[in-house]
Amino acid sequence: MSDSKELLAKVGSVSTDNEYFLPLPKGYQKGKTKYVIVTGTVMSGLGKGIFSSCLAKLLQDKGLKVTPVKMEGYLNIDSGTLNPFRHGEVFVLDDGMECDMDLGTYERMLDQNLTRANFTTSGQIYQSVLDKERRGDYLGRDVQMIPHVTGEVKMKLRTLAMQSNADVVFVEIGGTVGDLENAFYIEAMRELAYEEGPHSCCFVALTYILEPATLGEQKSKAAQLGIKQLMQMGIQPDIIACRAENPVTIQARQKMSVFGNIPFERVFSMHDSASIYSIPTMLRDCGLDFEVIRMLRIEDRISLRTERREWERWVDFTDKIGNEKREVRIAITGKYTSVRDSYASILHALEHAGIHLGCKVHVQWIDTSELTDSTVADALNGVDGIIVPGGFGTRGMEGKIACIYYARTHNLPYLGLCLGFQAAVIEFARNVCGLNGANSTEIDQHCANPVIDILPEQKKIEGLGGNMRLGGRDVELKKDTQAWELFNRADSVRMRFRHRYEVDPKYIPTLEKGGLVFSGKAPNQPIMQVLELPGHPYFIGTQSHPELTSRPLRPHPMFVGLVAAARNHKCAEESLPSPVNTVQKLHQMTVSSQ
Ligand code: GLN
Repeated sequence: MSDSKELLAKVGSVSTDNEYFLPLPKGYQKGKTKYVIVTGTVMSGLGKGIFSSCLAKLLQDKGLKVTPVKMEGYLNIDSGTLNPFRHGEVFVLDDGMECDMDLGTYERMLDQNLTRANFTTSGQIYQSVLDKERRGDYLGRDVQMIPHVTGEVKMKLRTLAMQSNADVVFVEIGGTVGDLENAFYIEAMRELAYEEGPHSCCFVALTYILEPATLGEQKSKAAQLGIKQLMQMGIQPDIIACRAENPVTIQARQKMSVFGNIPFERVFSMHDSASIYSIPTMLRDCGLDFEVIRMLRIEDRISLRTERREWERWVDFTDKIGNEKREVRIAITGKYTSVRDSYASILHALEHAGIHLGCKVHVQWIDTSELTDSTVADALNGVDGIIVPGGFGTRGMEGKIACIYYARTHNLPYLGLCLGFQAAVIEFARNVCGLNGANSTEIDQHCANPVIDILPEQKKIEGLGGNMRLGGRDVELKKDTQAWELFNRADSVRMRFRHRYEVDPKYIPTLEKGGLVFSGKAPNQPIMQVLELPGHPYFIGTQSHPELTSRPLRPHPMFVGLVAAARNHKCAEESLPSPVNTVQKLHQMTVSSQ
């Protein structure tokens, strides 16, 4: 047996007679899956996820099977309990995992549904090591950061490689090089490259070139020091991608090349761009995709014919950006109005729908905490449509209800998402069905008419982590409704959920008698999931989060519907001929996007 075979024969088990610890999933084939490992230096928030997803897309377009994984440094088991104000929105996967918003970037860019295997936190890693320790899996050894914790990281990556059958796994390490909490991930990547052998891993260091206004020139020292720090940890980057406000000068790239010990042609400029959807073109134009393919020696796995077809589809989409002929203004209410990241998926979904319809969408943020029935008309002046997004807690709720009342009574297009669906039920119950004091028990536990109440299965659960009704569910659509038209007359559609409260079924007959139509519900359960108002140009609410499943080339029908209705609203206001007259016709436009 060769040395490496002998080593592999011992894997998975712990031996006391040598220092090798190579946890490998059963059947793992070295060399089959390659790894692109993306780290960041100088500062966080460089857009590692955007960069990594765009590069992954370029490889996927060439017929390669790719899968991403985000490795977070924090100790939380998932992102469910994180405040979106500090960390950006919580993204929910189809399997119910609550994770970092970067997973949304990957899903959108790759048009792929991901799973919990694509997301790791330090908390998950430690939890699994400690579980193993309790089970006695480490056979009397002292459990250490190296090799046991780093071994767990490699195990997780290799399991993903096998399960996904990927040609290339894109590993994004959260935070910046030098953070104590991420150090074991970086050490695990060093070990991975050592164990997998040459040409199996490609290290990409994303860094930032400063351009202080007082100097008026690009400075690369901080970036150099960042790369040096990575090298001190035993990792020689293969590629440096320089983030910067403006295109990075040849001189700055030369410096990075010399001090980073990397050929000049592998130092790239990744400067700011108006739309993230133009970044794949930027990376492709500078040849980054082929540089990676050559380094990983996978030239024989790619198909240029597939790439031509996929690239044409992509360019058809990006060509429309910035060439929109019309524009609309959509208001979004919410308590995190100062942080755009809290609503990232909604902004993307609106952008997808707008590009699809050739209509530029301007977003107007509305803080509803001070809003009342008498000030709402002013606040919504010049707005063509309104979204009340998901949320928790009581702040600003009455102002949101005032906005919905205004939208319902003024034929203003409305889309309610999760809490926005619940708020629409409350508004309708109070103002149309005469149910005084109607509310959600989340807002007022002792209200006279709790039309929104906690789900029966949630009543027995204590604690806040990972226990909502989470993930993808099928939604049954009612025939001959607007929702049914929007979804191209499908009987059932898959949507993503994250909620604890729902419409109390005992109020459904009263609400329906008042004219509210529940056009989508859970199969075999009285959980209402979509509502609409016949006769209104566009008044749709959903208990789900359609923004999470909108993709650039497949915009979500509920957002396409909203933007189309907003466009009609604007035409009516300006007495222009309307491009689409009825909601019934909307499905014709969404069909082409499916
Ligand atoms: N707070 C509401 C619930 O738990 C709505 C949740 C949301 O908007 N994501 O049901």
